[in-house]
Amino acid sequence: MSADTDLMPIPGPVDPVPVPRAAVPRADGKVELIGLGKDAMRAELEHAGLEPKQAKLRAKQIWHWIYNRGVTDFDAMSDIAKTQRPWLKERFVIARPEVVEAQVSNDGTRKWLLKTHDGHEFEMVFIPDADRGTLCVSSQVGCTLNCRFCHTGTMQLVRNLEPAEIVGQVMLARDALGEWPSQPEGRMLTNIVMMGMGEPLYNFDNVRDALKIVMDGDGLGLSKRRITLSTSGVVPMMARAGEEIGVNLAVSLHAVTKEIRDEIVPLNRKYGIDQLLEACAAYPGANNARRITFEYVMLKDKNDSDEDARELVRLIRKYKLPAKVNLIPFNPWGGAPYECSSEERIRSFSNIVFEAGISAPVRTPRGRDIDAACGQLKTAAERKRKSREAA
Ligand code: SAH
Ligand code: SF4
Repeated sequence: MSADTDLMPIPGPVDPVPVPRAAVPRADGKVELIGLGKDAMRAELEHAGLEPKQAKLRAKQIWHWIYNRGVTDFDAMSDIAKTQRPWLKERFVIARPEVVEAQVSNDGTRKWLLKTHDGHEFEMVFIPDADRGTLCVSSQVGCTLNCRFCHTGTMQLVRNLEPAEIVGQVMLARDALGEWPSQPEGRMLTNIVMMGMGEPLYNFDNVRDALKIVMDGDGLGLSKRRITLSTSGVVPMMARAGEEIGVNLAVSLHAVTKEIRDEIVPLNRKYGIDQLLEACAAYPGANNARRITFEYVMLKDKNDSDEDARELVRLIRKYKLPAKVNLIPFNPWGGAPYECSSEERIRSFSNIVFEAGISAPVRTPRGRDIDAACGQLKTAAERKRKSREAA
């Protein structure tokens, strides 16, 4: 690849400077307390008129009620003076995203269609396994990146989710699983993946602030080793993600040649494969015990040949990456321009990578009966709504 490539304008549908809409304040004018760091919460209470010492104490108490007990009602905060609770209620709120629809699959996968306070819908999925429970969290409403196999990429509207809305997803899942008060052991919700709707590294500050609270020992107390951030390859933000968030990294590679990756992940026209893999090699904290996951969606006759598998191995070796590969059977949606590779093809691809000493499990599709793939519940709900309206 010539060095000039970086300076070329980006052809095609990719938005060179993705500008999502700003979030709007709540209609009731109240300040959301979820998502504020401890200092920020203290500052808000002070700003509303509490003495600095009071504000500090109240912030500590409220923080505990919110994150340890899952409380949303100031009246339940028994160590806060009864007379002060109405004052708090008038100015502040401890909310959750609104649930538009909740579904449970026959394999135990749960999926929620959620709504922001200003009416934008987004999704969250919980996947229980024998030894863990993984919550798939959204970072944006829609996505500006238009990957061709991804249904979220076809959605127009984009708004960054606020820290409150990102942490709020985890809180809501804990509500649904009955996991309050916070317990260090025996939880169902053990892992978080930032693999719902949106590109987390295009909403860096909010994702970082949210995950800090999720990881805080006095917050939701999940270890950074149990959190994975998935990016389609926003190279300039990867080092900061490692330094400032420090969670596991997953990279949506999906192709090993410029031609194919340009087509299916248009961001590749801006940050090419070599640049991306160099950034992976430099990712702080990646080592053999904490590998980088390469996600690879299996698209029939597009990226699934034995030659592609061998090239993938070569690239991983070239950059000496502590890597594992997650092979994801393509989850089709109406109007998608691709099909899923055959089982034999996926097995052959997986074997080549595996025989090179790199773990390459095939991810089992979960929750197919409830359309638990990216962006699909939202569309299914819209379809239902439209047919109801037409009736
Ligand atoms: N924007 C980030 C994170 C959200 S997408 C990223 O792209 O990494 C999470 C994962 O779901 C990505 O690996 C994405 O490629 C994959 N994905 C999206 N649509 C899919 C589909 N229809 N079938 C299978 N995997 C899909
Ligand atoms: Fe956005 Fe990720 Fe979907 Fe690409 S795969 S459109 S980056 S959500």
